[in-house]
Amino acid sequence: MNIKRNILLNAGPSTTTDTVKMAQVVPDICPREKEFASMMKDLRADLLKTVHADPQQYTSVLFCGSGTLNIDVCLNSLLPADKKVLVVNNGAYSTRAVEICEYYGLPHINLQFPVLERPDLDVVRKTLEENPDIALVYTTHNETGTGILNPIREIGALAHEFGAVFIVDTTSTLAMRPIDVQKDNIDFCMASAQKGLMAMTGLSFIIGRKDIIEASKDYPKRSYYCNLYLQYHFFEKTGEMHFTPPVQTIYATIQALKEYFAEGEEAKWARHTRVFNAIHKGLDELGFKDAVKREWQAGLVVSPIYPDDPNWDFEKVHDYCYERGYTIYPGKISTTNTFRLCALGAIDEDDITAFFKVFREALEHYNIAIPVVYND
Ligand SMILES: *Cc1c(COP(=O)(O)O)cnc(C)c1O
Repeated sequence: MNIKRNILLNAGPSTTTDTVKMAQVVPDICPREKEFASMMKDLRADLLKTVHADPQQYTSVLFCGSGTLNIDVCLNSLLPADKKVLVVNNGAYSTRAVEICEYYGLPHINLQFPVLERPDLDVVRKTLEENPDIALVYTTHNETGTGILNPIREIGALAHEFGAVFIVDTTSTLAMRPIDVQKDNIDFCMASAQKGLMAMTGLSFIIGRKDIIEASKDYPKRSYYCNLYLQYHFFEKTGEMHFTPPVQTIYATIQALKEYFAEGEEAKWARHTRVFNAIHKGLDELGFKDAVKREWQAGLVVSPIYPDDPNWDFEKVHDYCYERGYTIYPGKISTTNTFRLCALGAIDEDDITAFFKVFREALEHYNIAIPVVYND
């Protein structure tokens, strides 16, 4: 097997190992077989270990779909009648949670903060004080649109102080930046297999408190396919996913988890940090500015600002790099023109060094000044 190795610097799916790719090539199997259920049982247990969740207290529930499905499931399933969701929102991914609340007509407070800043915890506290009907507090760990790291441990502590359940979107940190559900005050977190785990698209999972899921049995039912209790209950009863699972992606995820535990939580985070630092070094050498304060960055996504150069054209630079095996990614900040370079995936420092050779070539090819120019 000789599979071309592309370096994906987008925010997921990420570059995978060949062994994970190959793990999908298996004999055909009906996922209702005991053999398959037993694989999923081990997979669910291993997922808990990635966030140090106690299996007595926490469970993991698998779904077929992309990561956004997890946000949908948590919000529509975990809100009791006559209660409210508080979304601590400083970016595109928390805004997605607000939109989900709007689609389901869930009572919610969209507590908005500037996208290039961290949420003000005093304002979060005040909102909780003034709204005793808040049952769910929701935020995003690493706002993938900007790369900002949110203070989840502190927000979780506030949620618990006011008797609310804390849900965190950890899609762009889980299995990369270490998470400990107990210490980080997390009741529910989530991810998809294609990001930190470096597996394939199509499998998403929620890790959360069993007692809260059990209690949600009697909450208003707002979705059928995306109900957390229904899926959890079916898993507990039969060991199977309620509806057809993404079979091949599950094989890939099992292999990816093996590789995750072999690399080790700390070593993997150290590798992502090396890649992140190499991205910064490369950008610094070319004169690029960051949209987000360096000390606030989660260590996984860098958002450089477009240079004020008449020759700058993101699409052209993208295509030049893409043709040579490197994928760079558009930004997601409405107020500033940025692009993104992410430290996800099975890549290391050397890949970033090689990328910056191609990136510099692209700038030269299109007569974009180096160092890049900014007007202010
Ligand atoms: C990738 C990502 C998601 C899921 O996005 P999909 O397009 O559904 O895969 C959700 N939240 C965050 C923070 C993410 O980075």
